[in-house]
Amino acid sequence: MIHPIPAFHDNYIWILINNNSAEAWVVDPGDAKPVLSYLTEHNLKLTGILLTHHHHDHTGGVLPLRQQYDCIVIGPAHLQKLVTHPVEDKDVIRVFDAQLEVIATPGHTLDHLCYFTNNWQGNKVLFSGDTLFRGGCGRLFEGTAEQMHSSLQKLAKLPHDTLIYCTHEYTLANYEFALALEPSNALLQKNNKKVTELRQKDQPSLPTKLQLEQDTNPFLRFEQDEIHANACAHLQQPLAKLSSEKFALIRKAKDIF
Ligand SMILES: [Zn+2]
Repeated sequence: MIHPIPAFHDNYIWILINNNSAEAWVVDPGDAKPVLSYLTEHNLKLTGILLTHHHHDHTGGVLPLRQQYDCIVIGPAHLQKLVTHPVEDKDVIRVFDAQLEVIATPGHTLDHLCYFTNNWQGNKVLFSGDTLFRGGCGRLFEGTAEQMHSSLQKLAKLPHDTLIYCTHEYTLANYEFALALEPSNALLQKNNKKVTELRQKDQPSLPTKLQLEQDTNPFLRFEQDEIHANACAHLQQPLAKLSSEKFALIRKAKDIF
């Protein structure tokens, strides 16, 4: 099972649970408190932590959790104070019975990692941190648009039925922007309606699926003429030629949207 533990204003800390052993892992615990409450309430022992990048809202809970549980921490190598098992691109790690591949995805930060498995209890699963969101992608705090472009291209090559667990509930804001660029996309309109209803009931819009992102996310669809033309009009810039330039324009348009 994978469950969201809401944290801060719009973060999700994903908890991976092994029911047989009553053990759990968490992804990007920015805050220890809601994780500790969840573990106590469900009688679970924390055995591991996965980190996607160094931002405090993803890592702030690591030390307090480790004071309570003797768990391992997998993440970017430069986080020596937090990480017990440093990993890099293409490394393979084990979480319970599943093997996860580490995918380096610089852009949002330079250290950003995603974790992919083709068999989490029969599902393909990606923990995408702040790289790929439902309907959007992470802001460029450290990397270039070119780096983010190639990172997203790597994720776009994963199987189409991969479930994507990102860290933030940004979907409705992302869809507002996506619809401004591609108002004719019926699937996008439909999903915007669906997520609006979910959010009214305070339910998460995640996980998403890679196929849905291919069909609705402007950061994977920047080559579409309608999207490119609208982004250029929005920025009052001439049309671009290169794929990476088209991507950069979408990112720029979102930053000022
Ligand atoms: Zn971040």
